[in-house]
Amino acid sequence: MSDLLNAYQRVAGKDAVDHLQQLSAPLKGAKFVHVNSTRVGGGVAEILMKMVPLMNELGIETSWEVITGEDKFYQCTKSMHNALQGDPVNITSDLLKAYEETNAKNAETLRPILEDADYVIIHDPQPAPLLSLCPNRKGKWVWRCHIDASKPYPPVWNYLSQYVKDYDASFFSLADFAQQLPHTQYLIPPSIDPLREKNMELSQAEIDSTYEEFNLDRTRPIMLQVSRYDRFKDPIGVIQAYKLVKQSIPEIQLVLAGGGATDDPEGEEVLKEVRDSAGNDTDIHILLLPPDAHKTINALQRLSDIVLQKSLKEGFGLTVTEAMWKGKPVIGGNTGGIRLQIINHHTGFLVDTPEGAALRIQELLQNPDKMKEMGKQAKEYVRENFLSTRHLREILSLFTILDNQSKS
Ligand code: UDP
Repeated sequence: MSDLLNAYQRVAGKDAVDHLQQLSAPLKGAKFVHVNSTRVGGGVAEILMKMVPLMNELGIETSWEVITGEDKFYQCTKSMHNALQGDPVNITSDLLKAYEETNAKNAETLRPILEDADYVIIHDPQPAPLLSLCPNRKGKWVWRCHIDASKPYPPVWNYLSQYVKDYDASFFSLADFAQQLPHTQYLIPPSIDPLREKNMELSQAEIDSTYEEFNLDRTRPIMLQVSRYDRFKDPIGVIQAYKLVKQSIPEIQLVLAGGGATDDPEGEEVLKEVRDSAGNDTDIHILLLPPDAHKTINALQRLSDIVLQKSLKEGFGLTVTEAMWKGKPVIGGNTGGIRLQIINHHTGFLVDTPEGAALRIQELLQNPDKMKEMGKQAKEYVRENFLSTRHLREILSLFTILDNQSKS
């Protein structure tokens, strides 16, 4: 067995890797393509970064293609993202034209690869029209929705579904997100990769240097949220919770760690709102990290006492699993995929308001034993449910089912 598969076996167990080898054996040599709209930033890029090499290691010829566009395209797809998460955003015909033209332009380059592929996963709305632009496709195409689409704004979903309906299947992170579609829909939650720099074990020296780099006081408690500067991640709500905690635990420090994704044009505006809300409190550390700051994020998640993900809407929230894998009970917004990860009172706490978050933060800081026990449960829960080996096993099973269906 290769070094890579051995390494997965050490963390996820022998059965997990055996199972992957069995499922991939009939797919050896098949051409598999993933398509999304950014190579850096955000959860999809995070997943593909390791899943693509693992698939190749298993003998499936896998490539990762990224579509690109101009400002209007990203404005359109960000509005679509917000609308699928429930915002009543009307998208102008001018922006929709940019969406369609950008997909048509990208199809010119990608068509040979996509039409020749045996299996294609199109991630999220950005590249959804590609299927309609590859009339001679020979493979199975599946649309993967990473977004909390439980209550999409109907006009935008109606527009998008004209592209999605023709896929062979689609898959979502949660049953609540499934839609009216004429094909089978599957549930496959995402995962983290335990071998990735973001999640691997770190030395104490690496953690120590992170305290120094960001001027954090290791003798005082630290609360952290890692996420893009996006309103649905509720960074302002995190600052409100911090201010409430500060009244009874004045030594608390807050770290908001984020960066941009190249397909997210709203980040700067939200960052400004966050800075305004933080004012001149020197215990609030607002970090703007480069896209490859994986070890830094890993270290921040390890050195923090409390990790939050106070999202108002969340497709899954990889940052929750990442922190749980580091033995942290996470305080998360009671929404979407966060509910799948946080088993309330066992692997963390689900909260609806900044006040609720503040109460739980205080409760954990005042009960270190409870915090440790919940953190232990959180880590085991991730090992069983949210590692990349389980994720890939379910994706390969999905395509095996589709193959079997067409044979029969
Ligand atoms: N992330 C990062 N740098 C940042 C902010 C986030 O590398 O500045 C990572 C984070 O660790 C996680 C992913 O980006 O792996 C975000 O995925 P998630 O599902 O939490 O949210 P999304 O951005 O996809 O909505």
